[in-house]
Amino acid sequence: MDTFFPKFSKKRSGVNVIMEQKLLKNVNNLILNGQTCTGCGICAEACPEEAISLGLVGAVRRGVVDYAEPINIDEKKCSYCGVCVVMCPFNSLTLKIDGEEALPIVEREGFPEYDMATTIDQDKCVRCTICEDVCPRDAISREVPAFEGTVEGALERQTVLAAKTTFTVDDEKCTRCGICSELCPAIDVKRKPFSAEFGAVVGDVVWDEKLCDGCQVCVEACPEEAITVERAVESAKLTGKVEILEENCCTCRWCDINCPTEAITVEKIFEGDIEFNADKCPAGCSTCVEVCPANAIYLPTPKAAKDLRGENEPVIAVNKDFCILCGACVNACPGEDIITLRRTGIRVKGKETDLFLKIKDKLCTPRTSMVKEAAKDEVELKMMETA
Ligand code: SF4
Repeated sequence: MDTFFPKFSKKRSGVNVIMEQKLLKNVNNLILNGQTCTGCGICAEACPEEAISLGLVGAVRRGVVDYAEPINIDEKKCSYCGVCVVMCPFNSLTLKIDGEEALPIVEREGFPEYDMATTIDQDKCVRCTICEDVCPRDAISREVPAFEGTVEGALERQTVLAAKTTFTVDDEKCTRCGICSELCPAIDVKRKPFSAEFGAVVGDVVWDEKLCDGCQVCVEACPEEAITVERAVESAKLTGKVEILEENCCTCRWCDINCPTEAITVEKIFEGDIEFNADKCPAGCSTCVEVCPANAIYLPTPKAAKDLRGENEPVIAVNKDFCILCGACVNACPGEDIITLRRTGIRVKGKETDLFLKIKDKLCTPRTSMVKEAAKDEVELKMMETA
């Protein structure tokens, strides 16, 4: 006899794939964001129910197929525990219980979470644009006011820095000739009505600090050398705040390494090493470059023939400073044993439960491209989805 509950369903909604388990009273949803999912496969290794398999990681990322996601979740095998949500380094999975975000595995069993050590020292930070530009994951929130230019309602440039400008006119020298006010909207020469009583041009030179940007045009143009402008910067720092959004940060350290004032510290969540056997790499493939969420893999700039000195030019390379050892490249690479990934540690906070230690063991098992070493002496072909 068919049971009425639980009922399962899976549907797509925009960039999301929503798995649903309907119990008598509760509704559990596991939501996969297919756009931010990199196909690293960490969720598949971590899932205690083996409900997650890898999809066509490279093809999906290259846009060759639009009918699949980098991973596939079996909504019936899933126990909606939230382990995959915790372990996803890209925040691509969300678990909802009766419409509310929840993580039962953390709440009930004390499963540990990644220890995201990211800081920006606001005193050292000069609010430049480098971290925002280099970050491959939109993880930098740079809240600095817009200054005049193309943005409507932006602040005037003179307000960028807190500065004090002083303008003085030597009344003895000034003839009220009006040249300064012709050149600058900050100056108004207010002449008094011409009167035989004075028999000369008299009046005031009125200056508006808000309109003055200290350019010194008035000083240069005054034929009597009557004007002095002095500008003292009181605070040479842009106002605003720059922050790292930990939920988007994959700990690649692009910002940390490139920050010109050494204001940023980011620690990677995985320790270990990755090797590329570039000799075996089919030229022109570059799938790993496309899938790398940390922008760590690159096609080296060709060397001039005279500089090669008999060496073979590598067709692909990785900058280990930025590699986060997520494994997306290993899963996407179509060549055998080209990429080898060896994780040796995972930085987490909270108690390392038995379940976590099992997952850690799996994640720390070395693997290579095309074939995966599930355990010693046991090799498993990478799973491929057909539709
Ligand atoms: S570590 Fe990488 S992902 Fe995180 S904020 Fe810095 S650049 Fe972005």
